[in-house]
Amino acid sequence: MAHYGYSARKRVLITGGAGFLGSHLTEKLLDSGHEVICADSLFTGTKDNLATFRDNPNFEFIRHDVTDPLQVEVDEIYNLACPASPIHYQHNPIHTVKTSVLGAINMLLLAKHLQCKILQASTSEVYGDPTVHPQKENYWGNVNPIGPRSCYDEGKRCAETLFYDYHRQENIRIKLVRIFNTYGPRMHPGDGRVVSNFIMQALRNEPITIYGEGQQTRSFCYVENLIDGFIKFMDLDSDETGPINLGNPNEFTILQLAESVIRLTNSRSELVFKPLPTDDPQQRQPDISKARETLGWEPTIQLEEGLSRTISYFETKL
Ligand code: NAD
Ligand code: UDP
Repeated sequence: MAHYGYSARKRVLITGGAGFLGSHLTEKLLDSGHEVICADSLFTGTKDNLATFRDNPNFEFIRHDVTDPLQVEVDEIYNLACPASPIHYQHNPIHTVKTSVLGAINMLLLAKHLQCKILQASTSEVYGDPTVHPQKENYWGNVNPIGPRSCYDEGKRCAETLFYDYHRQENIRIKLVRIFNTYGPRMHPGDGRVVSNFIMQALRNEPITIYGEGQQTRSFCYVENLIDGFIKFMDLDSDETGPINLGNPNEFTILQLAESVIRLTNSRSELVFKPLPTDDPQQRQPDISKARETLGWEPTIQLEEGLSRTISYFETKL
């Protein structure tokens, strides 16, 4: 793994650094010899996620809500703060919108003050329930502006708008990534996302909850691959702003995911069918040609391998 000398060492701010993705990004940057400041409200993140590097002298934690301004001296900003699971972002939808919109403004103001690069963790949800398949970055999406998912989808869309406006108006160097469903160790076991739900249910031999008929599709990316994509984009020596899709283009139905999880855990769980949540997208698959061309990035860890690693983690959470 590359280790940087003093001159190449960067001080990096990660908002949402105590969450699932943020803690992996923090760990990777610390392992490469950089300094990391993690600003997190601990709404869905936990200090447990920081356990393996909490005592690293290059790491600092600040309990902070991104809806308030923040002043720190850093070389780069990764803006990840936002609950990602539907049950968490729908818990207080007004705060979810504020987190995306005010959080983006506060972090962009900081980037402007510091004249530094800033990466925004956007989402495939900006495509909504897509009518174009697979989704390319030039697709504008099919999003309900007033549904239960809108606080997240429209908040993230507005954050993208703000990033582009700050780029055009203030010359801020932005990096916009649209993340497709990502999974792995340190997902919160109770956050309601499909991979964590299915694995916990299977390990406990409890019924696996399929919403709808399980024919809707998702494309699942293992966390380690995604984080490599983030860092490649941030380190890219060009004015590329994105948006760039990052995700694994291999698409599965939710039923296929359930079958894989049951097999890999040797579970006795049965399937139960529950109502499909409102506005649940029917299909989702990234077109990652742009990531391949501009970053030389593509996922290397496929579903069975990634699920096995994730199952080993969740076994420690029983
Ligand atoms: P997560 O819920 O595990 O992490 C989010 C982190 O942000 C948590 O630590 C939480 O405490 C923190 N946070 C939430 N609101 C905050 C606020 N107002 N101020 C400060 N901190 C706040 O979710 P994740 O999966 O790690 O997602 C990280 C980012 O990536 C999010 O922006 C999410 O929208 C985006 N994303 C994730 C996925 C995925 O599949 N994991 C997909 C698309 C987009
Ligand atoms: N899902 C499911 N059972 C669960 C949790 C989720 O069938 O216990 C479905 C959900 O309806 C959706 C897919 O799995 O179609 C992915 O859901 P998740 O909340 O993980 O992510 P998102 O909908 O944001 O892609």
